[in-house]
Amino acid sequence: MATTTAKKTAKPAAGPQIRRTQLFIDNHWVDPIDGGSFETYNPANGHPIASVAAAGAKDVDRAVRAARRALESGPWSTMDAADRGRLMARLADLVEQNADELAALESLNCGKTIADSKGDVEGVCNTLRYYAGWADKVEGRTIPVRGNIFCYTLRQPVGVVGQIIPWNFPMLMLAWKWGPALACGNTIVMKPAEQTPLTALRMAELAQEAGLPAGVINILNGMGETTGAAIVNHPDVDKIAFTGHVDTAKIIQKAAADTLKRTTFELGGKSPNVVFADADLDAAVAGAFHAIYFHGGQCCTAGSRLFVESSIREEFVERLAEKAKGRLIGDPLDPKTEQGPQVSQEQLDKILHYVQLGEKEGARLITGGERVGTDGFFVQPTIFDNVRDEMAIARDEIFGPVVSVLPFEGVDEVIDRANRTNYGLAAAIWTRNLDKAHLFAKKVKAGTVWVNCYHVVDSNTPFGGFKMSGQGRENGEAALEHYTELKTVTIKLG
Ligand code: ADP
Repeated sequence: MATTTAKKTAKPAAGPQIRRTQLFIDNHWVDPIDGGSFETYNPANGHPIASVAAAGAKDVDRAVRAARRALESGPWSTMDAADRGRLMARLADLVEQNADELAALESLNCGKTIADSKGDVEGVCNTLRYYAGWADKVEGRTIPVRGNIFCYTLRQPVGVVGQIIPWNFPMLMLAWKWGPALACGNTIVMKPAEQTPLTALRMAELAQEAGLPAGVINILNGMGETTGAAIVNHPDVDKIAFTGHVDTAKIIQKAAADTLKRTTFELGGKSPNVVFADADLDAAVAGAFHAIYFHGGQCCTAGSRLFVESSIREEFVERLAEKAKGRLIGDPLDPKTEQGPQVSQEQLDKILHYVQLGEKEGARLITGGERVGTDGFFVQPTIFDNVRDEMAIARDEIFGPVVSVLPFEGVDEVIDRANRTNYGLAAAIWTRNLDKAHLFAKKVKAGTVWVNCYHVVDSNTPFGGFKMSGQGRENGEAALEHYTELKTVTIKLG
């Protein structure tokens, strides 16, 4: 097996302080009534960091009641929309003031490099500010109906929203969900991922400091099958916004059917990243590298299916492998580190299992494929060449630093093959030919298409999936629709 020269960087100084581990309900820090607790770990060494409170069904009920009260009768329910926006902007300022601490906490718990965590904190501020601006711009319409009738529409909050988020971008996913929910006047019961419970608790503290009224935001950590399911099953939760695995989304959608809750889903992907021979190859190599190895491949938009035009495949793979071998893997809190650990033993095992499968199915391992060290959950950046579309490594979402290189000959062929997947989150093309770029953008079945770039996502760009990559859109104006109910008011005039 080939190996990379990637090595572990030195250990950094002490990590950030853990301030809160309890449940956050109605602006109070409380112990669970019927939950329990669980350990959260540092993926860089596998050691526990803290014991965190887990919410049981009774705790979920407490939080939902608080959120309902805040929605129906608290100061939030009568607050001017512009003031809601001001509170959100204040929260963004507080996040900015505490950026270093939040970033360090994220890196400690999630394994993200400190540079990436700082980028995420910036994204959190951008998202909160973007939606703060929307708070007083959520408008209805007047409708010219027949007869002496005055008709208008109102956009009102959906109500109490249950928000369930994953471990790969804990704070950013929180902001993507808080932003539109708060702008539209909803109240929130959120469950962070069990792997990464800590930054949401710090964000709750900051939300309270910003002046968000009691009950508007409630944070309940815990397991998916218990805490998450209790939120989904609660009859007084109006909507579930979920980001995570497609199999979990299926469970949630079935459970939500009982109370006909509104649901939005942002799920996985197996995104095609297509490189034509006419592309700027320096940019395409760097882009393909970033597409798969950003956050160790733990990204739902990861460019894990790398289609390379046959005439440049050999050179392209060589250059990609060269970069992969030089990647500096190590403690995420060390600023020199380029790739931190995978989030958990489970993810590490899953990745190594797919490496074995790839070799068994006859793909050629060019570089990587092994664990780095024995402490923590580090994996080498891995490249498989000679991959065929039907192989497991080309079909399944691995959620790790493993790229499958698939050769192709022409634009029609590659579009057809790019679309042969149940997923449809993102796709990218590298070319200097405008015709090819536009054809691809039109025909590829994906919620986001990048041309000569990758992973470019902003607070104002709608984000979500075709097919089994999701339902609904986050970010931008598009998200507001999913956090409002549309009411038609019809008045007979005298
Ligand atoms: P991953 O495989 O990336 O961990 P999951 O879909 O399992 O993705 O987790 C995403 C989020 O969904 C986490 O917060 C997790 O606790 C939650 N979750 C998992 N199972 C359920 C469930 N049955 N009901 C509600 N939430 C769940």
